[in-house]
Amino acid sequence: THEGGLADAPPKPAEDNKLRPKKIAEMVGQQDVIERLRIAIDAARRRGEPLGHILFDGPPGLGKTTFATVIPNEMETVVQFANGAGLKAPKDLIPYLTNVSEGSVLFIDEIHRLPSSVEEYLYTAMEDFRIDIVLGEGVSARTLNLDLRPFTMIGATTRAGMLSGPLRDRFQIREHLGFYSVVDLCEIVCRNAKKLNIGISVDAATEVAQRSRGVPRIANNRLLWIRDYAQSKANGTIDLQVAQRAMDMIAVDSLGLDKQDRAYLQTLVRVFAGGPAGLEAIAHTMNCSSDTLEDEVEPFLLRYELIVRTRRGRMATPKAYEHLKTAS
Ligand code: ADP
Repeated sequence: THEGGLADAPPKPAEDNKLRPKKIAEMVGQQDVIERLRIAIDAARRRGEPLGHILFDGPPGLGKTTFATVIPNEMETVVQFANGAGLKAPKDLIPYLTNVSEGSVLFIDEIHRLPSSVEEYLYTAMEDFRIDIVLGEGVSARTLNLDLRPFTMIGATTRAGMLSGPLRDRFQIREHLGFYSVVDLCEIVCRNAKKLNIGISVDAATEVAQRSRGVPRIANNRLLWIRDYAQSKANGTIDLQVAQRAMDMIAVDSLGLDKQDRAYLQTLVRVFAGGPAGLEAIAHTMNCSSDTLEDEVEPFLLRYELIVRTRRGRMATPKAYEHLKTAS
């Protein structure tokens, strides 16, 4: 069904790729980050050296993978994509490391999920561009010392706090990505409507931006749904009324909260009397994973001051009570 979940499920890869910026100049917002990266890229290019390792952290959908796509393009080099959850042992890393060409990029998403054995293996690779490979087993085992071509590692994480100090310290550039302003999201929506070949009015784009919780990926997903709605239920262009109706239909409220966000607030308010309640208890009651809540739901609720985190757990704020009253 086209329920709340649809709006926040990652879009189909084809559409995601179509909307993803390919060059830094196509990116909107994150001006400070972009300015610092431009300087680092420019300097590395002048020196003819690979760019220093870069770590991005921030909630999902804010552009970490996009940066890992545009940076290699600016450096005129290639990128390999890996995921921390898929690298279970050092041997899983070896193909990536031996594949790097001089100055190319290795992107590891969800880098906080690397097991410590793999993480430790990365230390010499990142610092000295060197790894040890153990050949054979038991008494006949030999260690082979392998030089790697100098490369740039880009790591992405939703949990900067979960990275060990030694790993974090090996990234020369560390950037936090924050939520986008309504103005920036509006710009993204307008540009993407053009890419999708659909007309959208400025007030409709602003409405989408306001109801996207500061996250470009959510704005894109809303836009894709509204496009379907406009083509099926209206004359194919998106005006304010079409945008509002389409978002109402998938239960996205005026603040941009979807069913899951509201279920979180309702659980906290009704079941736990406003808190304080532990994250695990809330997740258990809602029958969903605490990781999802911590990564995708809480950052926006915290930023919007709908909840606060205390030492004894999460608490709903008066603003949350107020919002639930108007939203239900
Ligand atoms: P993350 O890796 O942080 O989860 P992504 O880089 O995959 O997020 O971003 C999700 C989508 O949002 C991208 O496909 C892209 O279309 C859009 N997006 C993200 N950041 C920007 C930006 N700065 N400007 C324009 N679009 C963006």
